[in-house]
Amino acid sequence: MMIKIYAIGGYNEVGKNMTCIEVDDEAIILDMGLYMDRFVALQERNIKMNPEILVNEDAIPNDEIIKKLRKKVKAILITHAHLDHIGAIKWMAYKYKCPIITTPYTGEIIKRNAKNVESVSTNVNSFYRVSKNIEAEFINVTHSVPQSAIINIKTKYGSILYGLDYKNDSHPALGKKTNIKKLKKIEDVVLLIADSTNADEERKTFSEQIAKEMLRDIMIGMENEGHGLFLTTFSSHIARLKSILNISKIIGRKVVFIGRSLNEYISAAEKLKIVNFSKDAEIIGNAGRSEEKLREMNKNKDEYVFVVTGGMGEKNAVLTRIVNDEIALKIDPQDFVIFSCNVIPTPIIQANRKVLEQKLHRKRARIFKDIHVSGHASREDLRDLIKIVSPRHILPAHGGLAKTAAMASLGGEMGYELGKNIHIMQNGQSMKLL
Ligand SMILES: [Zn+2]
Repeated sequence: MMIKIYAIGGYNEVGKNMTCIEVDDEAIILDMGLYMDRFVALQERNIKMNPEILVNEDAIPNDEIIKKLRKKVKAILITHAHLDHIGAIKWMAYKYKCPIITTPYTGEIIKRNAKNVESVSTNVNSFYRVSKNIEAEFINVTHSVPQSAIINIKTKYGSILYGLDYKNDSHPALGKKTNIKKLKKIEDVVLLIADSTNADEERKTFSEQIAKEMLRDIMIGMENEGHGLFLTTFSSHIARLKSILNISKIIGRKVVFIGRSLNEYISAAEKLKIVNFSKDAEIIGNAGRSEEKLREMNKNKDEYVFVVTGGMGEKNAVLTRIVNDEIALKIDPQDFVIFSCNVIPTPIIQANRKVLEQKLHRKRARIFKDIHVSGHASREDLRDLIKIVSPRHILPAHGGLAKTAAMASLGGEMGYELGKNIHIMQNGQSMKLL
């Protein structure tokens, strides 16, 4: 009888999530993500990427500790379509001769992101038999990208719940609520691997409806007549994009989505019939190739809401190119620039964002920051989750020590004991659970 946990990535940082679980003579991998901060740094230096460079620069997980297990790995299970969970598939999945299992939307994004792998999809709220002794159940949860799941790994020794990333939104703007009923039904949770990103936030994470109301408050009723309305958010946040579209209709402006990644995430969602934005909005995947169209739109800016990529100040994103005067669409004094996002708390991204804001100030734009609610559970939601699933052990993940320790202190309040049944791990460590 043996369950062993390998913390491969995401235990020292918010990024490059990857965990391996060995159950007797089999193993599974959970998530395979990028560390965006390091990845962006490499992109900016125009470095040609390969797996070795990416590992050395800490941009993808270092899976050296499971080298001996490679043949035992029966499946790679993926929770959702964010790059810090799927972005390393392209660079390292080839080492494992096993299927990639996930929900349909995530599968579609993986196919677009990692052309070298074929992903196998399953439906949300269904079991997938990984092997003779392991079953995986994808339980739908609310997060900030469609079809996110908590994965229940069923073994003969009990269930292991992998809960990255999730929030408990009782009024989601798109898709179903977190399936609490199903979570409650799971018997004998041996281990909960928990999302610690916001474990240090002493509150509940608000519903996506709150973000919608904040946007409504700015877009309707403020003095924006005659001015451009620019908006940026995470390209994968389809629910947020839907809210923007709805509010824009009310003020009689047409939405124009501009940018490669917006185009990718939206077209994947349209393909799976999750939304139909093309009906009401225009989607421009390549701003450089649509100069003429953008020049025309620029003449009548107050007829549009421009949703653009680049909220993190990324080098080639549309908002960056606008402030650098590289495309025909311009920001003029008094134009609204709404950041419907937070800043990913990593050093290079924070620095890039600062530069972007300074350039916007120089253009005398009206800036609205943090018009956003997080997709991650806060401390009080996490307390609920622990109550709901009553795990025997807790393993905080998705963050460095500051965050995992906050999760551990929450466990402490709930009767868990550090080192005994709540475990802090770091990248490269393994732990025998049973
Ligand atoms: Zn996520």
